[in-house]
Amino acid sequence: MSSIADNIGSVTRRIQKATMTAGRAPGSVWLLAVSKARPAADLREAWQAGQRLFGESYLQEALVKMVELEDLPDLEWHFIGPIQSNKTRQIASAFHWVHSVDRLKIARRLSEQREARLPPLNICIQVNIDREGSKAGCLPEEVKELATAITELPNLNLRGLMAIPDPRATQQERDGSFRRMADLLQHCQQQLPGATGLDTLSMGMSGDLEDAIREGATIVRVGTDIFGSRPVQR
Ligand SMILES: *Cc1c(COP(=O)(O)O)cnc(C)c1O
Repeated sequence: MSSIADNIGSVTRRIQKATMTAGRAPGSVWLLAVSKARPAADLREAWQAGQRLFGESYLQEALVKMVELEDLPDLEWHFIGPIQSNKTRQIASAFHWVHSVDRLKIARRLSEQREARLPPLNICIQVNIDREGSKAGCLPEEVKELATAITELPNLNLRGLMAIPDPRATQQERDGSFRRMADLLQHCQQQLPGATGLDTLSMGMSGDLEDAIREGATIVRVGTDIFGSRPVQR
């Protein structure tokens, strides 16, 4: 069985290779270790191997781990799960990034509840890029309006877009979804020249990070290939 440190090493090499193959700048793609449903000891092991960015989907679970890992410097916490409005206050104070904002009500609450002494909360808009019926995320045609509104909120820094493509899609269809995400980000950059922080495409997971990087991903979110398969799916 390979260790978490070995796995981080091999995922990092996959990212470097894909970045180079795509002709993109070294270091332009970040690895977000998706640590939902993992014990704090696993995150500590990843930290010891040099990993600093962690993605969590369940607020209560994340808050417990944050306390357990308080002694580790430089951890950066990214919230990537569905957001209920009664959870925004704790998300706004505990996290550095939120990838899963898909409606204005949530963005407004996060901005109001982000303490002014903290730097602005980094935000990605989650896009339901494959128009799946039950999926979280706003539709592609709604992105521009939501992005415009978010750039006007004082305590948020709009960074870009996030998507989870339809898991049933073929590789070709998925590549198309990644490409439409890149087009959408470019469109936002052109339409919102004031939004200077708009540089992020959060897409690509364990099985498809190479394809996502080829199409322009700047953050890949990897769980299984770092920590092994999740014991319990919630
Ligand atoms: C769980 C999860 C991932 C990681 O998926 P793996 O297949 O385990 O790499 C990435 N993004 C989101 C939003 C997730 O919920």
